[in-house]
Amino acid sequence: MGKDILQIAPRPVAEDVVAAGASGTALLEFAPYQPYRRFGILTIGFALYGLCYLGAILGPWTNASWLSVLTNAGLLPVAFCAVVSARRASRWGARRPWTFLGLAFLFYAVGDLAWLIEGVHGGDPSFSWANVCYLAYYPLAVAGMLAFPRAPAQGSDGLKFALDCVTVTTAGAMLIWYFVLDPAAVRLADEASGIEVLVTISQPLGDILLVLGAASLVLRLPTGPERRPMLLLSIAMLSNALADSLWIYQALQGDYATGGATDGLWYFGYLCTIASAESECMLPRGARNPERALAENSGSYHLPYLAIAVAYSLLLYVGLKAAGPLPIGLIIGVIIIAASVAARQAIAIQAVRERDARFSALVEHSSDAILIIGREGTIRYASPSVAKVLRRDPKSIEGRCLGEFLHPEERPVAEGLRVELVRTPGDSATREWRFRHPRGTWIRLENVVTNLEANPAVGGFVINMRDVTERTELQGQLYLKAYHDQLTGLANRTLFFDRVAHALARMVRARRTVAVLFCDLDRFKVINDSLGHAQGDQLLIEAAARIKSCIRLADTAARLGGDEFAMLIEDVTDPDEVLRVADRLVQAFERPFVLDLQEVSTTTSVGVAIAAGHESAKEMIRNADLAMYSAKAAGRGCYALYKPEMYRAARERLKLQQDLRRALDTQAFTLRYQPIMRISDGQVYAAEALIRWQGPGGRMIAPQEFIGTAEECGLIVPIGRWVLEGALKQACLWNQRTPHAGRPALTINLSGRQVRGPELIQDIAAALERWSFPADRLVVELTETILMDNTDIAFGLLSALKALGVSIAIDDFGTGYSCLAYLHKYPIDIIKIPREFVAELGRTSAARDLVRAIVAMGTGLGMAIVAEGVEHPEQVEVLGDLGCDLMQGYYFGRPMAGEAMLAFLRSTPSVESTCSAVR
Ligand code: C2E
Ligand code: CA
Repeated sequence: MGKDILQIAPRPVAEDVVAAGASGTALLEFAPYQPYRRFGILTIGFALYGLCYLGAILGPWTNASWLSVLTNAGLLPVAFCAVVSARRASRWGARRPWTFLGLAFLFYAVGDLAWLIEGVHGGDPSFSWANVCYLAYYPLAVAGMLAFPRAPAQGSDGLKFALDCVTVTTAGAMLIWYFVLDPAAVRLADEASGIEVLVTISQPLGDILLVLGAASLVLRLPTGPERRPMLLLSIAMLSNALADSLWIYQALQGDYATGGATDGLWYFGYLCTIASAESECMLPRGARNPERALAENSGSYHLPYLAIAVAYSLLLYVGLKAAGPLPIGLIIGVIIIAASVAARQAIAIQAVRERDARFSALVEHSSDAILIIGREGTIRYASPSVAKVLRRDPKSIEGRCLGEFLHPEERPVAEGLRVELVRTPGDSATREWRFRHPRGTWIRLENVVTNLEANPAVGGFVINMRDVTERTELQGQLYLKAYHDQLTGLANRTLFFDRVAHALARMVRARRTVAVLFCDLDRFKVINDSLGHAQGDQLLIEAAARIKSCIRLADTAARLGGDEFAMLIEDVTDPDEVLRVADRLVQAFERPFVLDLQEVSTTTSVGVAIAAGHESAKEMIRNADLAMYSAKAAGRGCYALYKPEMYRAARERLKLQQDLRRALDTQAFTLRYQPIMRISDGQVYAAEALIRWQGPGGRMIAPQEFIGTAEECGLIVPIGRWVLEGALKQACLWNQRTPHAGRPALTINLSGRQVRGPELIQDIAAALERWSFPADRLVVELTETILMDNTDIAFGLLSALKALGVSIAIDDFGTGYSCLAYLHKYPIDIIKIPREFVAELGRTSAARDLVRAIVAMGTGLGMAIVAEGVEHPEQVEVLGDLGCDLMQGYYFGRPMAGEAMLAFLRSTPSVESTCSAVR
């Protein structure tokens, strides 16, 4: 024994690992405790002792008193070992139980020592101090055993456990009473003193306590690694109780011999205790979870029945053996057992009833319908909630096949699920299917199906059905909202991108191609602004319907925003198919739209992109968009197929935008001026400022090449501001340098984008003030298209210009959106006949008629008429004959630099008047 065993303080894990000399990781994963070396020493000690003991029994020198000494001398170290092991277990394992148990064994060991000393020194060991120590052992041992943790009691579990303990202990007590207590009491009644009787019978009473403790252990044996120490301890205690009882029984019979089976049982009991304590120490620390282990405990439910069998066997044995009445102790025991069993049964039945009531209430009031289906698909059970969820009488569907009620499309889903689950008992899976409502509609259900065929209480598939009709509808609505355009019901941009991406991915596998059509309603803005948004919306809805009518059901039509629509055509085998769709689309818009208030005509420009296989969804849509711009540029109301040049052109436009931005910063623009002449007196009436761009290579770039791009990117606004400033500055210079010449008007060109900006009027007013330029000598030139595309702001803008005193000219009259009503509506001062009309003058009489009509109309409305692009003297003559007195063109002078214009003004008399005087 000695030092090695007594060294019980817990040590750090690492030290234990080193001491083990084994794989560190393995030890770290399990217990840090390392008992083997000490156990080895212990085993060797006990083996040596066993040899001595055998020699003492069998050898020629056998002597009863020495054998007694040897027996006790052997039991003594084992008892102390049990103390040490219990102490260690209280450190490494369950603290309280093993502390009690350690103390109990200590008393027992001390009792053994006292017994030994008293045995060696003679005297009567039956009534000694040793007995007092032994008596302390029982309550401590029982306290230790009862102190082991128990699963948290649920409901009546605690009471049932107590009754089971009573049953088993009573059976043990009956045995002890009959074989030990009763005979001892009878034997000692006459000859022993009261204290002796008490000491003698208290030992068997203590054994009853041990039985109680052992029973309580067995009845709550946990699962897992925690089971072993408790099982070994209960064996140890039973063996101790048995040894104790046997010893008293043999002592009463006078049969006790030292070193016999009784001592062996004690010896065995101690060894089991040591093994129990050591295995408690060896429990993996991380895995120690007594609560869980006990909760999963299956317990030893057979033990009470075994106890009943033992009690009744004893009764039978006694009944057969003794002639007289049954001893009162046994009768009381049987009554106690019967009562506790009956009470337990009553509690159990009550608990089952409560549980059943709880479960049926749960099932009845469940929001789910529960069905049990046989393997063949027959409904074996339908819960009462079926009436609420499936709107059917549960009894009416029992015995019928589930498939009868399912939507035909979803029967295979249910069948597939059944096949899947048959292979995996216990598994669950979730599916949705529709169940026929008695009124013929469909209830959408979410079903959790569990294969409980192996469970005898169910023996089939349990289906928990939940009505998700509303949820699904809501999800559908949310989906519609998230992925569809509210106005037209077509797919929105997000969904369209997604569909295109999927189609492109599929296309690679299907070896077919995909096309995207991008279409934009021409002049939708004009209609929307002039007729109002309600009519505009109606037009969009009608347009969406026409777009849908041009494609197949499987194709996707989307509204990308505003008046932009797109279509995805899938499974294209021939590109001509797509072009035919584009053509149909253009034609579909040729018919006028009949709206609530009136008929409206619009056209659409369509861009077509056919996938080559490498494009992304974004690129496809971009390509179709570029093609659409090309269709618009080609005159609107037509379609264009995307070509890589379009992308190149777009890139060039982008480059041009960057160059323009730089040009603005580096002042690379310049102005030219072209005179407008009054023929009747040969004077200069005005000078039109025309912009030029000194391009990157020094080349002079004409405005047509960049004005459009500048408009697109908004740069026209700062450019226009620069033109205004530059032209006014130049005009002031002319005035200063030609003090004796007339002062012609200055005309500048405005673009649509400038007109839409809110700052135009302030800019003009500020510039006029800065240069002290009279407003009535400034003319702004606008095209008809600008006015018609901005109807909502045009009137206010023109009025504001007029309020400033600025004159308004309509450039290129008759080439844009012709609506003569505006001439009357807006405060226009000058009409400019376009170059194209003037060029035709000498060739066709129609041109003459047209110019005559314009002159007559303009003059009639009190406007001045300027003919542009006059290159030949004949044109001057004809125009003069037609009543046009103001002319502009190369014939009089090309656009020239400011200095050149100064010279021109010096050489040519100018009108010394305001522009309004031109009329
Ligand atoms: P527009 O307002 O119609 O200007 C007249 C254009 O016709 C000028 O071209 C001028 O050079 C040209 N032209 C004048 N007389 C004749 C002729 O006898 N024969 C021919 N073949 N052409 C003649 P330009 O300067 O290239 O300007 C083109 C257009 O650019 C202008 O057309 C105007 O719409 C726009 N533009 C020019 N400068 C500006 C500007 O500062 N701002 C804005 N927004 N647009 C401008
Ligand atoms: Ca002009």
